[in-house]
Order: sequence, then structure tokens, then C-alpha cells
Amino acid sequence: MKKQIIEKIEIYKLKIPLKEPFTVSLGTFYNADLVAIRIISNNGLIGSGEVSPGIFILGSTMDSDFELAKTIGELIIGKDPFALEDRIKDIDSLYSNSGIRSAFDMALYDLASKNANLPLYKFLGGSKDRKIYTDMTIGIETPEKMAANAVKIINEGFPEIKIKLGREPDLDIKCVKAIREAVGDNIPIKVDANQGWSEVDAKKALNGLSQYNIIYAEEPVKRGNISSMANIKKESPIPIMADESLCNHKDALNIVKQDASDFFNIKLAKSGGINNALKICAIADAADIKCQVGCFFETRLGLSALYHLVLARENIVFFDMDSAFFLAEDPIIGGIKSEKNGVWTLKDEKPGIGAEFDPVFLSEMEKFVIE
Ligand SMILES: [Mg+2]
Repeated sequence: MKKQIIEKIEIYKLKIPLKEPFTVSLGTFYNADLVAIRIISNNGLIGSGEVSPGIFILGSTMDSDFELAKTIGELIIGKDPFALEDRIKDIDSLYSNSGIRSAFDMALYDLASKNANLPLYKFLGGSKDRKIYTDMTIGIETPEKMAANAVKIINEGFPEIKIKLGREPDLDIKCVKAIREAVGDNIPIKVDANQGWSEVDAKKALNGLSQYNIIYAEEPVKRGNISSMANIKKESPIPIMADESLCNHKDALNIVKQDASDFFNIKLAKSGGINNALKICAIADAADIKCQVGCFFETRLGLSALYHLVLARENIVFFDMDSAFFLAEDPIIGGIKSEKNGVWTLKDEKPGIGAEFDPVFLSEMEKFVIE
């Protein structure tokens, strides 16, 4: 059998505007500037991956990830793409920069499952017996504007709302009260402080919010302050979900040891990709912790990869997969589609992730090739 190697790697800057600016406690976003990776093997298969850099959380930009991708590409070009553990080890030798590592990991998993002629979820041992839908996120605005946005989202058919908080507790409580009154009692609501509270503020906010039937609160205080998160969890009437503090499986283990979170929020750009996300799921399983999958501003390609991951791990029970709805353009062919009610479906089942970048869209983007 001919030796299988990575013959070519293409790196792209994907510039996609958002439909509207989006604000969280960390800052405001105007564009989804992504980096796309295509790994081409000498048996003619193409694996696609992407990262949404997320400056405030991942500390990277489209430009920095584009440059680092050249270094990662040089580490794996000419090597066996299907020796997944070895290739992930090559990529993970960069240690930080989890975002761009995840784009390569995604492309390698796409390629390996295509080579096995299986949809990615089957390659990961999953089955299609799940209904996967997404919440829709409301950015920070005035309470009146946030309530109006909530009504709009529910009228569009989304089944759940996630509210960005992290300002003064009294203002945050006012926002949630306005939204709960506007949408009624039956709509599930999640909240996310994005590290915006102090420990004192968090306790005040969570106590004030408890009357509004909140599913969970994400990342109450500054990331990495695990002992403070543990203190909050101990007293909170609302379950706590670690997000920014939970990047990889080592963080997951540390959070479990300190009993600091009720739930985990897994994002591929934080974990460094699917390989490490599976390790987080394993630690969560051992600790009886349920997980969510979340996103930054990924296209439907990144969301499709998440969809496959959900089908493969039953302890992922919350879905925050709304990024594609914020993008002004959809550059993806195939993959998951949302026809109504925020429900994602994968109808046209193909090997791999089953989604790829539109070549016409890619042809207009800045590109670097390693071969
Ligand atoms: Mg979050």
C-alpha cells in the first residue's frame, strides 16, 4: 500500500461581517474573522477545519492564527494524516493557542473519518438518535431592548434564550426580569456573566435571579479563580457552568477536584479540538457532570463538527450552537441545517463532517499554501 501522507495544507483568512454588532461583558464584536484550514492527503481527500479566534477569551486574532498555522503546517506536512494521536501530539506541541490547534484537529478528524468512509459521529462511535437544537443568545443592551430581542427570538421559533450579563447585579436582575416577563414562564433561560461579577456581586445577582427560573449561570467571576467559583457554587440557588475557566481536560480535572462547577461548557477553540474535547467529556462522565457545547463565531462547518461530537457523547446535554445565525454570510456547502425552531439536522449524510467551504467564497480570500 502506498504510504499515506499530508501532501498539501491550505490556510485562509475568512472575513465575514456580523449582521449586527454583538456585545458581551468583555467587549463588542463587529466581524467574525476566521481562519480556515484544508488538509489534503495524497489519496485525494480533503479535511476542512476552522477557528473563530475570540480575542478576549483565546487571546488570538485572525492574523496571529494565520501566522501560527504556517508553523503548525510545517510540523505535519509530509506525515501520515491518519496517525491521529501522533499528529495531535505534533499540533499540541504549541501548547497554548488552542484556537488554531483546534482548526487543524478538526481538519484531521474530517480527513480521518472520510478515509474510514464514515460520518464523523460514527467514526467517534456515536449514533444519530438525538434531537439537537440551539438556544439563541441576547447580547448586552438596555433591559427594554433585551426584552424586545427576546420576544423577536421566540417569535422566530428558538426554543431557549441565553442572556449575556455581567454588569451591576441590580441592572442584570432588571434585564432578566424584563425578559422573563416578556417571554412568559415556559421559555428556558440560561445566563452568562462572562467573568463580569465579583464574588460578592455574583452571590447577590444569583440570589436575585433565582426567582426567574434560570437553568444555569456561566462563568460568574474572573477566569481561573476556581476557589471563588467553588465558593459561589456552594451557595448559589442557580447551577454554575464553567466556560472561560474550562479550556482543556486539565482544567476540567482541576475544577472537579475543587468542586467548583455544576456543568462544563466545551468549545473546540478552547479545548484545542475534538481530541481534547473527548477527554473533557470523559472527566465529566467520571464526575457525573453534564456538558454543553458552545461556540464563538464559527460558520456551519464548525457547528457541524460540534453536532457530530454531541451525537458521540451522551453527557453533552446543553446546546449553545447559534453562531451561524449572527453571520451576514454563509460560506458553507453541506453540513447541518436549521430549517425551523433552532433545530439542527443533518439530512444529507456524507463521510467526515459533511460540510465544506464554498470554493467560490474561498477563492476571494487571502491564502497561504504549504506543500
Ligand atoms: Mg460563556
